[in-house]
Amino acid sequence: MKREAGLQQEIGLAAQALRLARRVVVFTGAGISAESGIPTFRDALTGLWSRFDAAELATPEAFERDPALVWGWYEWRRRRALAAKPNPGHVAVAALAEHCAEFCLMTQNVDDLHERAGSREVIHLHGSLHQPRCSACGRAFDYESSSEPMGGGELSEGRLDPPACGDCGEPVRPGVVWFGEPLPSAALERAFAAAGDCDVLISVGTSGVVYPAAQVPIHARQSGAVVIEVNPQPIGVAATHFLAGPAGVILPKLVRLASADSAL
Ligand code: NAD
Repeated sequence: MKREAGLQQEIGLAAQALRLARRVVVFTGAGISAESGIPTFRDALTGLWSRFDAAELATPEAFERDPALVWGWYEWRRRRALAAKPNPGHVAVAALAEHCAEFCLMTQNVDDLHERAGSREVIHLHGSLHQPRCSACGRAFDYESSSEPMGGGELSEGRLDPPACGDCGEPVRPGVVWFGEPLPSAALERAFAAAGDCDVLISVGTSGVVYPAAQVPIHARQSGAVVIEVNPQPIGVAATHFLAGPAGVILPKLVRLASADSAL
């Protein structure tokens, strides 16, 4: 009871900061899509993939060593994202944008659930499951989005041969940023510029351990912004307001409260 009252009070304070804010940034991680049924990176992998460590599949070395294993895993993830629906957390973020004088949304997620909830101009720091490209020449892979597994050979034990590039014939790779690869520089620059120049940054569903993206909320805080963190578990970023709970429950409350007295 006492804890619940503390949370309500904290949501009230966070909503007040949002009402006073002119420039608002939302920074999201895998946790915001958890309630849409997409496992976070830290969740144990299920089924066919339970014998792997996600971080070991998400590297250029893994793709070089065993392209069918890595492509098969990303195809499983792409199809899963395609079947998922945006949840109230994604919808609340899209609604918040409509109430803000200046708004910027950046995500580490590689699904497209923010866009499907109505958010526009989303900065994708870690690429997208839906934009595969050639591993050699970089040409975007032209394909029709469907729930059918895309690739050659037999889908066996989750493994699937990646398709070949129409230009150079080399294997197509997922359009995501892997561990050890640089982030797209334009996206990173825009993200840091917005975080360094905002009044409030809301960090949602991220464990804050994947750099350099994890530096974004820290940069906002160091630049004088109010940082609101939404996560069932505190992650240790020095947030001004920590709102403990799932994004799909907390964000709609926060946005409703912040826009009730629409100075936003
Ligand atoms: P992470 O898996 O490291 O951390 C997830 C965080 O979300 C944890 O702190 C957890 O406590 C929190 N969380 C769990 N359920 C939540 C909920 N309902 N509401 C709010 N928070 C919740 O994810 P990360 O920090 O984004 O970093 C890992 C990398 O994994 C990212 O680079 C991302 O590209 C990639 N990834 C993306 C997706 C996706 O696109 N949906 C899924 C898995 C991994």
